[in-house]
Amino acid sequence: MSSRGLEGKSALITGASRGIGRAIALRLAEEGCQVAVNYVAEQGRDNAAEAEAVAEQIRALGCQAICAEVDVTDQEAVEDMVEYVIARLGKLDILVNNAGITRDRTLKKLAKQDWDRVIEVNLTGAFHCARAVIEHMRERRYGRIISISSVVALMGNIGQTNYGASKAGLIGFTRSLAREVARRGITVNCIAPGFIDTEMTQAIPRDIREQIVATIPLARMGLPEEVANAAAFLASDAASYITGQVLSVNGGLHM
Ligand code: NAD
Repeated sequence: MSSRGLEGKSALITGASRGIGRAIALRLAEEGCQVAVNYVAEQGRDNAAEAEAVAEQIRALGCQAICAEVDVTDQEAVEDMVEYVIARLGKLDILVNNAGITRDRTLKKLAKQDWDRVIEVNLTGAFHCARAVIEHMRERRYGRIISISSVVALMGNIGQTNYGASKAGLIGFTRSLAREVARRGITVNCIAPGFIDTEMTQAIPRDIREQIVATIPLARMGLPEEVANAAAFLASDAASYITGQVLSVNGGLHM
């Protein structure tokens, strides 16, 4: 992909204060993209400072960056955020639905509230964001919507019925929306990362992590930057004829 291929474009990335979202924000900025860094307040950590640090790094790459604190489960707040981002950046070309959580439990122990919260953040959050940007993209006859699904949507995982359902839901959402808006010049795709080295996977006990790595053909965890490369590709003109697809970035874990 040519360097600075996203010059003049602007993107909103949810959950971009750390991990994969942060890597996508920086990768798009490397391509010249203006970026809105969405983040949410979390107990025991200063996500505002982390988001601002990401924004600073984006500015150092010569791109405009703004931060927006919003919980993606709050539809009204998401609508306000999109309005703010369009006002500040002038337009919105790219939406990356990255915000996501896990609440792992086998089904027999899974509380309804842990089912609900995972669906609300991972799936309904993406609906709120896409719903808020779609009219703007339709009017401009251009858009890229990229949602971060998971290999778990494709192959399942013990203790992740809620997470797997939310991530498989994103794939169904993506395919239907892709058909709805294709004629408006908007593409809608998913990335299904495998086992990526972030705080989400660092929370998994070391012995289980080692067992998972042993099943990965490339014999290692992926890096957030390797997911970000796929996002930069799908956001670029090089991917103009790709829509309704799921791009796996999983080291061969699932084929
Ligand atoms: P992470 O926990 O490091 O980052 C998640 C981000 O989402 C954080 O910035 C967090 O603040 C944000 N977030 C959480 N709830 C939110 C809410 N309600 N509103 C707004 N933001 C919210 O995890 P990560 O590994 O970087 O995961 C990023 C995405 O990639 C998630 O959707 C995750 O499910 C997906 N994913 C991760 C892996 C992996 O192996 N790490 C694999 C497949 C898919």
